[in-house]
Amino acid sequence: MKSIIFIAPPAAGKGTQSKMIEEKYHLPHISTGDLLRNAIKGNSPIDLKIKELMESGSLIPDDIVLELLHERLMNDDCKNGYILDGFPRNVSQADAYEAMLENMKLDHGVVIYLDVPKELCKKRILGRKSCPKCGAIYNDLIAGMESKVENVCDKCGSNLTVRSDDNEQTFETRYQAYLDNTLPLLDYYKKHGNLYRVDSTDATKTFKTIVEVLERGISHD
Ligand code: ADP
Repeated sequence: MKSIIFIAPPAAGKGTQSKMIEEKYHLPHISTGDLLRNAIKGNSPIDLKIKELMESGSLIPDDIVLELLHERLMNDDCKNGYILDGFPRNVSQADAYEAMLENMKLDHGVVIYLDVPKELCKKRILGRKSCPKCGAIYNDLIAGMESKVENVCDKCGSNLTVRSDDNEQTFETRYQAYLDNTLPLLDYYKKHGNLYRVDSTDATKTFKTIVEVLERGISHD
C-alpha cells in the first residue's frame, strides 16, 4: 500500500476517511493538526503563539510543520505507507515534502481530492464532536454519524468534545485559507499525475470510491 495525501476543504471528511482507511489497511494516520496540538501542550511563548494561530484558523509557519512531520515520518511504522491528513496545505509545503520524500527514499503515493460543497462543510463543522481518547469522529447534524449515546464515544466510552476552532467565524477563515493556499495544489498534483477526485458528500460511498482508487487505480477525475 502506498502513502495517501488528502486535499480537502475543512470538514470535508478527511478525518473520517482516514480512520476508515487506517482500520482497513493498518496504515498510520498522521494529522498535522494533531501533531501540532500534541506539540504545544506547554506554555512557552512559541506554544502560545501556535495556539493563538490555530484558534484563529490561520496556518502555522511551514518550518514548524515540516519539522514535526519529518520527525513523524522517521518512525518505522511509516515505511509501508501512511495517511497524511492536513498536509500539504500550500505549494511551498508540497515542494518541501517532495524533497523530503526523495531524501528519505519514500514513495510519492496517491493524492485524493475530497470534493464537497462549502455549505455541507459548514454543517459538518457545526455538528462535529470527537473522542479525545481514541480519535473517533461523530456528527449530531448528519444522519448516521451520531454517537449512540449523546456525547459518549461508541468505541471507548469517553466523553466527546467539541474543538474550540469548530465555530462559524473560524470556519470562514479556514475555508478562505483553503481557497487561497490549498486549492492551487490540484493543478500541482494534476501535473504530477497522481491526483484522484472523489465526491465526498456521503461518507460510505466516499470510502468505497477511495478503496477503488487505492486497489485498482480507478480514475474519477
Ligand atoms: P481542519 O482540517 O479542520 O482545518 P486540522 O486539524 O487539519 O483541521 O488543522 C487545525 C489547524 O492546525 C489549522 O487551522 C492550522 O492552524 C493548523 N495546521 C494543520 N496542518 C497544517 C499545515 N499543514 N500547515 C499549517 N498549519 C496547519
